[in-house]
Amino acid sequence: MPPLFLQPPSKNNPQLIRHPAQVECANSPLDYTCKIVPPTKTTTVKPKPRKRSTRGHTSTSCPSTQSISDWIERKAQGIKTLQVPALAKLPWLIHGFSTKPGGVSNQNGEKVLNLGFTEWDTKENVLENRRRFQSALGATNLKLISLKQIHSDAIHLFDSAPSELCRGDASATNRPGLLLGVQTADCVPILLVDPRERVAAAVHAGWRGTLARIVVKAIGRMQMQFKSKPADLLAAIGPSIGGCCYEVGTEVATQFLSQFAEAPEWFDEFRTGDEPNPIQWLNMMPPGHQPPPKNVLLDLRKANRAQLLGAGLRAPNIFVSDLCTACRRDLLFSYRKEGAQSGRLMSAIGIR
Ligand SMILES: [Zn+2]
Repeated sequence: MPPLFLQPPSKNNPQLIRHPAQVECANSPLDYTCKIVPPTKTTTVKPKPRKRSTRGHTSTSCPSTQSISDWIERKAQGIKTLQVPALAKLPWLIHGFSTKPGGVSNQNGEKVLNLGFTEWDTKENVLENRRRFQSALGATNLKLISLKQIHSDAIHLFDSAPSELCRGDASATNRPGLLLGVQTADCVPILLVDPRERVAAAVHAGWRGTLARIVVKAIGRMQMQFKSKPADLLAAIGPSIGGCCYEVGTEVATQFLSQFAEAPEWFDEFRTGDEPNPIQWLNMMPPGHQPPPKNVLLDLRKANRAQLLGAGLRAPNIFVSDLCTACRRDLLFSYRKEGAQSGRLMSAIGIR
């Protein structure tokens, strides 16, 4: 894992504000250091959140029946994009999550919309795919800003497009004309919008970023810089690898357990069907019992949704796609399933 990223401000990019997460933690009214603090009103984080409403729920099942429920599926110019109605109805906002089919890249004889610069694809293809994606979003006139993602908690604020690629995993802006993009192939893309102050943010949260609370820090940054109020924010958690498929080592679980009181709810053991308490080993390990499993399943969406609630977002304002990248290889890219031959999805948000 790369060290916490801290690069001196570049003369070429005076508009970039780079900051270490620690400073933000210390100054923020949110408590990042102990555990998730329930917001003062409306949402109480219950010990066992269950999917109830059709909005904002997560799913841990691994079915072929997964739907995009109340998300909007748009087809334009041969490619399919996914949107959240609550964001789509803001006339000044552009947002969307890409899918795999269409595009000009050739992956195993199939035309795919690879939006990241990978070794197996050409730069020309990726640029053409990005052009088509932007066109499908109606964002042709916006300047795409993507980051060199490094699984950090570095957040950039942009007033204008940088002249060179910035390293980091979240970006935010209140300026029109910029399209903030996050590339993923299993990791969790999160788009944030403040409808009141007109701020947009894009966050890349793999397990490292989730462990580092990158989405909470991005919200803290929006609060400090743009006077955003968490209760106003809308969040869209895009397609990512689900708790059905995301196998991690128990050392990852241990790190989460040391950081989050609710972490046991985000993990699951491989089931054989009738274990009384599948995560007992996470809570306590009496002597003489079976050795713990080597790997467990992590639900990153659940973890990020819990962080959003903890940061003060209202539950009805959090929209979670239940599409699993690993289950839906017809529609999405999965690095876990495809390895180096995987393409990249893009989640983008910007102000017209
Ligand atoms: Zn799955």
